[in-house]
Amino acid sequence: MKRSRLVFPMALALAALVLTSGVLRAQTPPDKFLGFKVGEDRKLADYTQIKAYFEKLAQESNKLKLFTIGESVLKKPIIMAAISTPENLAKIDRWKEITHKLRDPRTTSLDEARKLAREGKAIVLITCSLHATEVAASQMSMELAYDLVTGRTFFDAAKVLNDVVFLLVPTHNPDGNQMVVDWYEKYVGTQYEGGNMPWLYHVYAGHDNNRDWYMFNLPETRAVTKVLYDDWLPQIHLDEHQQGSNGARLFVPPFMDPPLPNIQPSVWRGVNLIGTEMGYDLQKQGMSGVVNGRSYTAWWIGACDDTGWLHNVLSCLSEVASVRGATPIFIEPNELQSGFYEKRLDFVDPWPGGWWRLRDLVDYELVLSQSLIKTASLHKEDILLNFYKMYKNSIELVDKGQPYAFVIPAVQRDYPTMLKMLEVLKTGGVEIHQAKADFIADGRFYNAGSFVVKTAQPYKTFAWALLDKQKYPDMRQYPGGPPVPPYDNAAWTLPLQMGVLCDKVVEPFEAKLERIGAVPYPKVPAQGKSEYFLLDSRVNASYAMAVALLKDGAEVWRTKVRASVKGHDLQPGCFVVKNSAAVKKALPALAEKLDLAVLDVDDVASLEKAPVKFPRIGLFQSWRGNADEGWTRYVFDDMAIPYKTLHNADIKGTKEKKADLRPDFDVIIFADENTNTIKGTRPGTTPGGGPGGAESPMARMFRQSPVPPEYEGGIGQEGVDALKAFVEKGGRLVTLNGASEFAISDFGAPARNSLTGVDRTKFFCPTSILRILVDNETPIGYGMPKEAAAMFVNSLALDTFSPSFEWDRKVVATYPEDEILLSGWLLGEEYLARKAAVVDTKWKDGRIILIGIRCQNRAQAHGTYKFLLNALLYPGI
Ligand SMILES: [Zn+2]
Repeated sequence: MKRSRLVFPMALALAALVLTSGVLRAQTPPDKFLGFKVGEDRKLADYTQIKAYFEKLAQESNKLKLFTIGESVLKKPIIMAAISTPENLAKIDRWKEITHKLRDPRTTSLDEARKLAREGKAIVLITCSLHATEVAASQMSMELAYDLVTGRTFFDAAKVLNDVVFLLVPTHNPDGNQMVVDWYEKYVGTQYEGGNMPWLYHVYAGHDNNRDWYMFNLPETRAVTKVLYDDWLPQIHLDEHQQGSNGARLFVPPFMDPPLPNIQPSVWRGVNLIGTEMGYDLQKQGMSGVVNGRSYTAWWIGACDDTGWLHNVLSCLSEVASVRGATPIFIEPNELQSGFYEKRLDFVDPWPGGWWRLRDLVDYELVLSQSLIKTASLHKEDILLNFYKMYKNSIELVDKGQPYAFVIPAVQRDYPTMLKMLEVLKTGGVEIHQAKADFIADGRFYNAGSFVVKTAQPYKTFAWALLDKQKYPDMRQYPGGPPVPPYDNAAWTLPLQMGVLCDKVVEPFEAKLERIGAVPYPKVPAQGKSEYFLLDSRVNASYAMAVALLKDGAEVWRTKVRASVKGHDLQPGCFVVKNSAAVKKALPALAEKLDLAVLDVDDVASLEKAPVKFPRIGLFQSWRGNADEGWTRYVFDDMAIPYKTLHNADIKGTKEKKADLRPDFDVIIFADENTNTIKGTRPGTTPGGGPGGAESPMARMFRQSPVPPEYEGGIGQEGVDALKAFVEKGGRLVTLNGASEFAISDFGAPARNSLTGVDRTKFFCPTSILRILVDNETPIGYGMPKEAAAMFVNSLALDTFSPSFEWDRKVVATYPEDEILLSGWLLGEEYLARKAAVVDTKWKDGRIILIGIRCQNRAQAHGTYKFLLNALLYPGI
């Protein structure tokens, strides 16, 4: 009796468990699936395996549903798992409905919000290994998912998952993961094990894929952004990264000063709460070396982990100390960086040094990830209600300095680029209105068709930050001392970068406004009926069309002076296209694709013009994974401008055969890179990725690692000689930003960088937007406004001089006398005053064009693309 009474309920209970929770169903642990333990020394799962594992787990468990949220550049599906109780997973649409209602207090009352917060589930998102070399989180994700669905957690998983719908993206850079794992596996067991991959770990962006989160250029960025602000609306987001090896074992929030202004205090309170819980839970597991409040600033830099702050999301970052790929490292106690061996309140338990293995990274990340989910459960109702309240504040409270709206006038120099800016705003969830009638705001007249972004809206902070200028606080190491550099950029102001007119309107105004759904693309009129047509030099899309038509053999010229045609006042540099049968055929589809109207004309005899040829472009790619080179490729691909990638060997040739570049190329471009890296004189630094654009510790570690001989060195003196011969024979060499130093040092271009050797206490300008004056009657300045905004990123301030007879030079853009800073931070303005930013030099039959700014910066600076585009479409050569 006794026995049967006991056994019977137990059997029932077991059966109930099997039926409802799935605990006892057979779920394959990742170790068994992979054939090795997650985080085992020298073992990495690639994306194919990771994806297959999640697919298997989704079949085996009723607590995990798999979604495809987008596609990478190389067409890999980006997967996301939703993990919760089976009951919650069956009601996903309801949880989404609730978060959408909570986001809009204009249609949801506080009482209703309270009810919804009680009913709803906290939605928590973790994204892993955006930086593909920071591989641990992508590996960890499999074990985290398995532990959650099987209840192997340090908390009661059933209870926690009842409160939380947990979204897990194993990696939002699948292409990079595959490249990195392939590279690692190729060299494991050799002297190159765990070393630097010689190309970018995102096809276009490399490390900069974490600077794209306000511009949304990359499909990977857009996929996660859709989850964040359009589809699921998680209240908590964590992006998991890795840092250098010799400091703290792990960074978790709080972040470091300065914060971006106008972010709600509740965001910081929530982020700090989550970070503190993480530290607490890690400490309980005996995991030492956790730091907070250092290195990672709360100044938004367009990174994945912090774009959420501007959307009232509790957005967090974790940075665990790296190993070399999956290869363990040993750190002697004396090798720990200063500040990381003494107890401090922001670093209460120093790590003593010793072995550090991939499994350690996985362990730290498992605990901090679980901690995040636990915290969401602990404060579930609060987090949801506060989510609502923050949006209520966004709409109802007027912050210090808050304008009423931003107005984007209907009349623009480059209308298609303005439409691109509207797309960016829409992707970030910004509400935009269009005026149906003329109106007046702040005493200025605006035509019907102008766009209005009111600041009182759910994503106020994001809209405001993108459209307004930034003022980075003057932070010093000590009063009067050297500046404390920002983590990355100090400014990003989109209208300035994109060359779009946008006015800040302080006072409320009346206007007949209609909220737009999709960006309204005007219908391109039927065109191209006459003998010729003109393309406006002020419009970037004109250059794309000119290249496309030239490629098909069209006859094209560029105007040399201002002209008035059919009532249009045209700047120099407009494209004149002969409307041949082939052009007529190609035009409609091109115009449609580029949203470009052309100007029909029958007689062009009176126009002073010079012919332009299809440019055969070579773009140098070093074996150092230069993101600026990647972005240059992105710009060309985006505009369908063909080019060929040139590596060291293509430029320097072989011992037997010197390279002869001129028969195959008209233009050769060097992206922002230092001369030593280009020439291979010694390992160079890669711009960006660390404080103030300096090299990150990770980048340094990889740079110093040995590389296989085929990827060593640079173009050498042989390459320089080949490039000289190329220019002598009429080629154009274009040097972007830092590469202009190479044009000066190795070609003798008649200029020098006046900022060389200037002390940081005297001159300091971390990635900021500066005012330049442009000569738009000279070919490289064609289509530019007389005054423009330039992205200064470790850029140059050039002194030119009267050159020897073989040379000539034309200053295209200069910094003005004063009021140089438009957005960001600039110390020592006088060091820039009247210096040249862009110089077009002529040497023998060719040209060397020094563009001493980041004119195509991260495919964001559309407003200065034309310096580069003009170098491609140089007339009269
Ligand atoms: Zn990272």
